[in-house]
Amino acid sequence: MVLPATDPLYLDANASETLRPAARAAILAALDAANPASIHRLGRAARHILEKSRETIALHCHARPQDLVFTSGATEANALAIHALGANRPLLIGATEHDAIRAPAQAAGRAVTVPVTRSGVIDLAALERLLAAHQGALVCLMEANNETGVIHPIPAIATLCAAHQAILHVDAAQSAGRLRTDPLGAGAASLALSSHKLGGPKGAGALVLAPAIADRLTPLIIGGGQERGRRGGTPDLPAIAGFAAAIAVIGPEEAPRLQRLRDQIDDGARALGAEIIGQDAPRLPNTTCLAVRSLPAQTQVIALDLAGIAVSAGSACSSGKVARSPVLDAMGLDALADCAIRVSLPWNCPDDAPMRFLDAYQNSITRALHKADRSHIASAEPVV
Ligand code: PLP
Repeated sequence: MVLPATDPLYLDANASETLRPAARAAILAALDAANPASIHRLGRAARHILEKSRETIALHCHARPQDLVFTSGATEANALAIHALGANRPLLIGATEHDAIRAPAQAAGRAVTVPVTRSGVIDLAALERLLAAHQGALVCLMEANNETGVIHPIPAIATLCAAHQAILHVDAAQSAGRLRTDPLGAGAASLALSSHKLGGPKGAGALVLAPAIADRLTPLIIGGGQERGRRGGTPDLPAIAGFAAAIAVIGPEEAPRLQRLRDQIDDGARALGAEIIGQDAPRLPNTTCLAVRSLPAQTQVIALDLAGIAVSAGSACSSGKVARSPVLDAMGLDALADCAIRVSLPWNCPDDAPMRFLDAYQNSITRALHKADRSHIASAEPVV
């Protein structure tokens, strides 16, 4: 069932998906739960919620429940993977990684960047050369990019890694629930997940491990021995219950429906003169990155916001400011990178979203170009 359109029209699902009703119900049901480590019956009831949630999410990832470590989100899961699996190994990271990979890898002081092609897909020939030069590396790559939706070929990458005694960690924050893939089955050693990117609440995530390494994980946070000693701290049970409930209700019909709506947006945007970044590559079904040359992204985002449509510019800017996107820079987009907006459709995107978006998009482009034309100002000035 598709829920009624919300106002404003929310097209920023890659920042945070809309909370699914099943997740909301599971959160509320778990709010009064006791501590899952307590041995009395209330503690055992809480533990039941925790372990059922673990089973549900592990099943979705084709993993064993005992190989899943709950975290506060994908940022922590990526940091744990780099800390535990990357110790004493060279680190290879994709050029379009999220800061949740880039920052801990750079902090480790030995990150080597693997370039992407102009479409944003990992350059397999370059990866192979770097693997040969850095035997036994930890390779950290996202499965799908948060800004462009571009998908890396994880099975081919895993095969290359195996040939060079490298291990592969996959950041599946944007792809989990949106793609029916199996990175662990393809040979990845670990997978980072984020609840709020798939319709669960913020504050929960997981690192899912291949069986061979699951019990050899050096924790990042030590404490009360929770998560089999792999992540200390009392788990956020309501968030975890909501995470599991969200992943459980994602149906196979969701992605094709969103892709149809996304394709309508792409077709309409092309007709208005926009370029679609990464259009030659496989992409997430709900995501498109649109650029209109000489029209700053911030201008477009503000104009669309005034029209009641929520999209974002560049990567999710946690500080609230828009800087040039390193992702689009890595794709060699030069000045066009400053003119790209991300449109990411939520699971409950209304059917009339393409029409509403394109209408507002056309108005904002026309107004901005008209204003720029009249005043002869440099296009770097915000024109709303
Ligand atoms: N990885 C990717 C690809 C993301 O898009 C994000 C969030 O935008 C993260 C990691 C961080 O996830 P979380 O908010 O769960 O820490």
